[in-house]
Amino acid sequence: MLEALKEKVFRANMKLVEAGLVILTWGNASGIDRSKGLMVIKPSGVDYDELSPEKMVVVDLNGNVLEGGLRPSSDTPTHIVLYRNFEGIGGIVHTHSTWATAWAQSRSPIPSLGTTHADHFHNEIPCTRLLREEETEENYEMNTGRVIVETFASKDYFSTPGVLVAGHAPFTWGKNLDDAVNNSVVLEEVARMAFLTKMLKSDVETLPAHIIDKHYSRKHGKNAYYGQKKAPGDAPDR
Ligand code: 13P
Repeated sequence: MLEALKEKVFRANMKLVEAGLVILTWGNASGIDRSKGLMVIKPSGVDYDELSPEKMVVVDLNGNVLEGGLRPSSDTPTHIVLYRNFEGIGGIVHTHSTWATAWAQSRSPIPSLGTTHADHFHNEIPCTRLLREEETEENYEMNTGRVIVETFASKDYFSTPGVLVAGHAPFTWGKNLDDAVNNSVVLEEVARMAFLTKMLKSDVETLPAHIIDKHYSRKHGKNAYYGQKKAPGDAPDR
């Protein structure tokens, strides 16, 4: 079942290790088949060296495991809440990458300080509130998803495809899983650059809106002109 998606999800998880965003078993990536309403996710707590496409777990959007002999990622309920609420996303990535996690632990959004950020994330990368005690005691992972959705109540999850969960770590998503992985790589670099910029000048101002908008719209949306023309049938950009 969903063999091609299992292969993609396996590769995405391995790419996180290759990109230096994941050590030990600290992270997870999933992809969804919207036509079937099923997602594929990494098993929980298994060494990356031991992962294979066959070990990926197929789960429905009620959290039922449909295929796979291993327990799915402990963060599966978070992924489900995001798939249910962020229509159109095709993949989700969670890591504990150092620089983004440092911002999450400081409970601060990452401000848009330069064009590297604006090229990929249209606005600051928001940070959620901390979960309350009762939200932690029961359905913790589901509530992590809910607090992310709450954070985006008046924000566009497509143009800012990532978040810092306060005291925890980042999640990113994308129109497909490759995009979600790419957004995690960019988020980590942007987090590092913003930290260093703040060290040099703690009261540095956010990049002016006209520069942010120029850079974001060069790469995204109907007037994008960065890169090469899309082939007919290619997925539209966000
Ligand atoms: P899993 O191995 O269960 O996916 O957990 C990894 C993790 O990063 C938990 O936040």
